[in-house]
Amino acid sequence: MPSLIPNIASPLLSWYHQHARSLPWRDHPDPYAIWVSEIMLQQTRVEAVKVYFERFLQQLPTISDLANADEQTLLKLWEGLGYYSRVRNLQKAAQVVVLEHGGQLPSSFDELKKLPGIGDYTAGAIASMAFQCPVPAVDGNVLRVMTRLTTDDRDITKPAVKKDYFCQIETLLKPLSRSGDFNQAVMDLGATVCLPNGLPKCESCPISHLCQAFAQNRMLEFPVKPSKKPRKIEKHTIFLLRQNDRVALVKRPDSGLLAGLWEFPHVQGALSLKHAVAQLEQWGIQTKHIEKSIPHTHIFSHIEWRMSSYLVTGKEHQFSSFPFIWVSKEQLLQTYPLPSAFQPFASDLLWKEKPV
Ligand code: SF4
Repeated sequence: MPSLIPNIASPLLSWYHQHARSLPWRDHPDPYAIWVSEIMLQQTRVEAVKVYFERFLQQLPTISDLANADEQTLLKLWEGLGYYSRVRNLQKAAQVVVLEHGGQLPSSFDELKKLPGIGDYTAGAIASMAFQCPVPAVDGNVLRVMTRLTTDDRDITKPAVKKDYFCQIETLLKPLSRSGDFNQAVMDLGATVCLPNGLPKCESCPISHLCQAFAQNRMLEFPVKPSKKPRKIEKHTIFLLRQNDRVALVKRPDSGLLAGLWEFPHVQGALSLKHAVAQLEQWGIQTKHIEKSIPHTHIFSHIEWRMSSYLVTGKEHQFSSFPFIWVSKEQLLQTYPLPSAFQPFASDLLWKEKPV
């Protein structure tokens, strides 16, 4: 049976012309802005990215600014977006661009892929959207639309399946002058019509007349992927230590989960009050007041932290307790990058009135 994919270009492009989402990075059609937006959008919802994108470009308006930014500024700009290796790679790539490409992002798919943090999808998105190269940008949205369109029951996590769609879409794009628009049209269709969770809005879909899953009422059977392994669960006890209007922070190691970010002191396990006080003594903190505080669960992609917490007021003048640093509220908000896992403790607890 001939592929259905070449037939979708025309209806999809007409639909995109009328229904393209208004997104901040589409108002900045320069390669750097497209690159930053695509890296932010990996694993993160469009709505969440908008604010981060504007702030990032305001503070680091050029590739050279990004290449020269200090680590803490960079992590603070990324605070809450998660997957911090993305921003580290973004900076490494910016440094390569400055050194080897005169500060201009290369335009070819192959050259883009040589940069840290840029894989097939991102290289395809940048090359097509910023430079109109006829290359696909195959992500989960594209695979969902394509497998529904063709009732393809192959496992989409297999590299061979992605490669097959890459080749088919590349063939479609070669004679087309609007590669960037085509790729964005599929992205928008996947995000707003051919939805990932729940029923797709087939009645509003510009390619429903071609779609095999729609014809057979089998939309929810695609895409096919293996079920995920259950997440590992870890319990942690968080210590919100305050004294003299300062709070204790500690830096995470330079590699691994949340590398190089700051956090409230914590230990693994759900400690009883007695064991919590013993832990504080081990750190050299003499407790003036301690009370149980809110619990919070944070879900990473592969692990779940179930966190209990204690709000602790230390006796005066214990600022030397290594490895903590003691920071003011302003410093915590403006200077030190704190991962999302710890944000509820900061916003809900740290600034409530001190116990008498
Ligand atoms: S008709 Fe429905 S299932 Fe098919 S591509 Fe459109 S939205 Fe997706």
